[in-house]
Amino acid sequence: MSRAIGVALPIPVDKVYAYELPGELEESVQVGSLVLVPVRTRTYTGVVTELDVQVREGMRLRTVRATVSHEPLFDPELLQLTRWISRYYVCAWGEALSAALPAGMQTKERIVYYLASESDLHWVGISPELQVHLMKHRRTTPAKLKRIGLRISEQEIIRAESQGALRKTVELQEPTVGMKTGEFISLAPAFRSVDALRDLKPQFRGKKQKEIIDQLISFLESGQNEISLPEIRKACGASRQTVRSLEKRGIFSVIEKQVFRIPEWMRSEAIPSSKAPHFHSSQAVAAKALRDAVRTETYQTFALHGVTGSGKTEVYLSALETTLSLGRTAIVLVPEISLTPQTVHRFRARFGDTVAVLHSRLAQGERHDVWQQIRTDRYRVVIGPRSAILAPVKNLGLIIVDEEHDGSYKQGETAPRYHARDVAVMRATMAKCTCVLGSATLSLETLVNAQQGKYTLLSMPERAPTKDRPAASLPVIRIIDLCHEREENGLSGPLSTPLLDAIESRLQRKEQVILLQNRRGYAPILECQTCGFVPQCIACSVSMTYHQGENQLRCHYCGYVRNLPDDCPKCETPAFAPLGSGTQRVSEELGELFRTARILRMDRDSTRTKDAHHEILSVFAEGGADILIGTQMVAKGLDFGRVTLVGVINCDLGLRLPDFRSEERTFQLLMQVAGRAGRADLPGEVLLQTRRPSHPIFSFLQAHDFHGYAQILTQHRQKLNYPPFGRIVGIQIRGAPQPAVEDLANEWKILLLDQLPSTISVLGPERPYIKRVEHQYRYFLIIKAPKTYHSLQEDIRSVLRMAPSTGRELHVSVNVDGLEQV
Ligand code: ADP
Ligand code: ZN
Repeated sequence: MSRAIGVALPIPVDKVYAYELPGELEESVQVGSLVLVPVRTRTYTGVVTELDVQVREGMRLRTVRATVSHEPLFDPELLQLTRWISRYYVCAWGEALSAALPAGMQTKERIVYYLASESDLHWVGISPELQVHLMKHRRTTPAKLKRIGLRISEQEIIRAESQGALRKTVELQEPTVGMKTGEFISLAPAFRSVDALRDLKPQFRGKKQKEIIDQLISFLESGQNEISLPEIRKACGASRQTVRSLEKRGIFSVIEKQVFRIPEWMRSEAIPSSKAPHFHSSQAVAAKALRDAVRTETYQTFALHGVTGSGKTEVYLSALETTLSLGRTAIVLVPEISLTPQTVHRFRARFGDTVAVLHSRLAQGERHDVWQQIRTDRYRVVIGPRSAILAPVKNLGLIIVDEEHDGSYKQGETAPRYHARDVAVMRATMAKCTCVLGSATLSLETLVNAQQGKYTLLSMPERAPTKDRPAASLPVIRIIDLCHEREENGLSGPLSTPLLDAIESRLQRKEQVILLQNRRGYAPILECQTCGFVPQCIACSVSMTYHQGENQLRCHYCGYVRNLPDDCPKCETPAFAPLGSGTQRVSEELGELFRTARILRMDRDSTRTKDAHHEILSVFAEGGADILIGTQMVAKGLDFGRVTLVGVINCDLGLRLPDFRSEERTFQLLMQVAGRAGRADLPGEVLLQTRRPSHPIFSFLQAHDFHGYAQILTQHRQKLNYPPFGRIVGIQIRGAPQPAVEDLANEWKILLLDQLPSTISVLGPERPYIKRVEHQYRYFLIIKAPKTYHSLQEDIRSVLRMAPSTGRELHVSVNVDGLEQV
């Protein structure tokens, strides 16, 4: 007799699949194990969610092919949490589970195109570049095409396939990571002391043999209990044979063991330890409240509002200390971008090598091993971005979400489209532990939850003390009216006279400057001065951005790159000129104006390589540059004492976006970047350039009045029933051709209206500002529901089941609590 088990699969179908478990696999399968199973013609790695499932009489089940992990990788808590994610964010359980696994552990399938017949290619209208590529390589994949910037649409593929020019296949890709093993030396009991090895040495005549014994001695002396064979052989250049000769004499045996790929900096124990400072008054109150909560070992969430530089990190450290002293563990979430060595260092300096860091800059094998070691209790504190909330830690006592307002906590592109802050609160509820949401600019969601008593509000309204002052003061904020500068003072570029004067005085005083321009590239767009033509991306309906260094045009949505044509393709005159300014152009202008100033630029272009981000920041931290100019990357978490001026080149960029959260985001961004100035003994100044100086946002910024502006935004949201007062769900329908996408969007609207009670509105279908990305047309619907309506997700789920199937041409995605993708 065989058993049927339930398996959750990483495919967007909302059910648990039943499989027959062959007798020989029974031993190795438990709830939470990974198994390899067939689905139609394909193979997937799934997670076992149930043993002994009920199946209908006479139903033919397919069989589990193999087990992937011999022990369960998910404990009941993570199974429960991912189940909740799948229900709340309307995705498959398997998709949520898959987000919790380190990349590369699942057997994946990938699409491969083979060239079938060369001569036919020409007939099917495939671009010449693609023809050349295919003839050269004979096989290719969508990922490869994307990397080299070649585009091919689904329609083109289908056409080429039907005419026999291309063959498309799906191939199995083995997991790209797994355990790694290495060879180690295990000394025979008689030779496990330095003395015994010393006595042994004269018995050997061979030079290499003596060297190996010396190496063994120094290994023992340094107190290392693991002796790696490759390391020994490398150190003395000994051959296998020499090693074997010693092995034969019974001095040691060579054994194979698992090795962990842990990055060197995470392993090293030489961390200077740090002690907590003497807390200032509101800091002491906040820290005590958290420590007391951790001790109760029950669920409670705190909203920690501390102005920039108030010392929130110290409060976290204090709560962590109590958590560890109780023998419990913690997760600390930070936005990916602030996961700098500076941040990590502060945690490691207090808690040493019990701190694990999970971030995207780890190599795949490293991430796998760190993850496995978190699962087996090697670490007590896990720091990481969004996905670290799904880390397999047991016995949680505390979850911290730093900069909880940060947009990067919401996953928008792929399912599960979860918000890590909200998942954190749910995980804390399940684990019965304390949760802290901290920020200088709390999100309205968190603020309202605190006002309604769901969270406990803690406030730190003043900055931490410095060497000379009882508290560093918040910077002075000045507003520069760009229209006035243009009309009265003849401003033509991006930098006004008051801002230039302020920079000049900082350069003279050897202080540092941070400038924010939230748009990368040289100039947002390039326009033909003769006919007004603006170059557009071929795949997306957006203007391309000019990058001067490379003299290229780039699409910031799909990455398409082309060289700048000499002449305008429309009127054929050589009259392209830049309009507006990106980070590149501003930094170039600064360089011309301040010839001796050392300028660093930090944006997505200058931080493409692995450590670039880290290098730029350490140069700036060590005083190796005077001005740091960048996109929103420069607004987050930086703590540099010599920065006394912050300038924002254009505050208006974020105020006009068609998203109900855009004003809140702009306020957060401006308040955060202003918070980088004057954090230590030197007082700070902030200059905000705008064309709309009368916008209410500015007077609140000048008064550092977070609560005042938050109240205005809150009232607005309440009036319009937007979150946190009502609920919204964005539904995106994308694909090609355009009429099919539009039809499907209309059909979805009808189905939704049918399913939902009349108190709920369905807006749209609308087309977003950017109507087409990567050859796909986009439409969206927005569902607005009262907060009290609890079966919203269930209703959407039933529409998903009823809606026409979508296939590879059309896609529907559901984004609960977010519009980010639309
Ligand atoms: P936040 O995260 O709230 O912006 P940080 O925790 O980074 O603030 O603290 C800002 C700076 O003040 C850091 O350099 C920190 O070491 C220092 N600091 C924090 N608390 C104190 C204190 N009580 N006394 C002296 N310095 C402090
Ligand atoms: Zn594009």
